[in-house]
Amino acid sequence: MIISMRLHSTKEEIEQVCERIRDFGYKIHAIEGEERVVIGAVGTGDTTACLESVEAMPQVEKAVRISAPYKFVSREYRSERTRVRVDGCEIGGDEFVVMAGPCSVESEKQIMQAAEGVARAGAKLLRGGAFKPRTSPYDFQGMEEEGLKLLAKAKRATGLAIITEVMSDRDVDLVADYADVLQIGARNMQNFALLKTLGKCSRPVLLKRGMSSTIKELLMSAEYVVAHGNPNVILCERGIRTFETVTRNTCDIVAVAVLNELTHLPVILDPSHATGKRSLVPALGRAAVAIGADGLIVEVHPAPEKAMSDGAQSLDMPQFQAMMRSLGPYIDLWKESRVTEAAAAV
Ligand code: PEP
Ligand code: MN
Repeated sequence: MIISMRLHSTKEEIEQVCERIRDFGYKIHAIEGEERVVIGAVGTGDTTACLESVEAMPQVEKAVRISAPYKFVSREYRSERTRVRVDGCEIGGDEFVVMAGPCSVESEKQIMQAAEGVARAGAKLLRGGAFKPRTSPYDFQGMEEEGLKLLAKAKRATGLAIITEVMSDRDVDLVADYADVLQIGARNMQNFALLKTLGKCSRPVLLKRGMSSTIKELLMSAEYVVAHGNPNVILCERGIRTFETVTRNTCDIVAVAVLNELTHLPVILDPSHATGKRSLVPALGRAAVAIGADGLIVEVHPAPEKAMSDGAQSLDMPQFQAMMRSLGPYIDLWKESRVTEAAAAV
């Protein structure tokens, strides 16, 4: 349930309403807003009776049931976009944000070259996996804490914020010591122990869509993190598995627009894993801007032919620079549409 209070309600009035909600067996999850306070309540009970009772209170403007099973991430709960602040930039705000870097951190030289190159081309965050989820146990598993230290060094050298994957709830504190954003990979989208732990973490989370997950399941996973206390979640479409084999995955590009209707959380696209082929990455990147994504996460490697993972889908530096240039006119239109949207909202 969402309960909107009248403008300038007092603390006592808000507390009276909360008391009434609790009497019906619901828990107050969040109280948001300063001038106009919105109360979010969760639990099971007689919702109709509770809504009627609360709505009859003079200080309440409106009380509504949220129909979607995901509540706090829904657009019904919050109509304006969530802006996730990351070390000087904002995802979900007025800028289209590009995150770029290699699939895996492999060596100091590799990550420093990658960081300098992507920073020069206009990326705001450096990606790079230190803990790698690999299909085969014999494949490179990542440099782990050593890799995190190299990412921190690249951050010091370039000023780029760091996004890196965490695979286990045991590693959340360790990864959060080095990273600005914690990435949850497709294979872990429904690792509920991990999602709950991330709810207690102070770092923003990038949640990638599972390769066989529906949009609703993605939103339910985001709901886990938010309901457990962390509102800073960014969603990522990275392609899903279909019968098509020409591309590594099938990019559900319209998922970006669907998510923009269903949730206030920022949505970015990963054109690298969505295609598996570097030749297709720039075109899909432009499509992401055009459809209203908030950013991209792209694999870029100083020498893709030597990459220890995902070389075939990684751009080299000149290709990444060219892609960034080709996004320019699309980003100009994107900015205009954000301004129009903001004007329509007031
Ligand atoms: C990655 O970003 O390198 C990765 C493993 O992505 P995904 O979880 O989407 O497969
Ligand atoms: Mn990868």
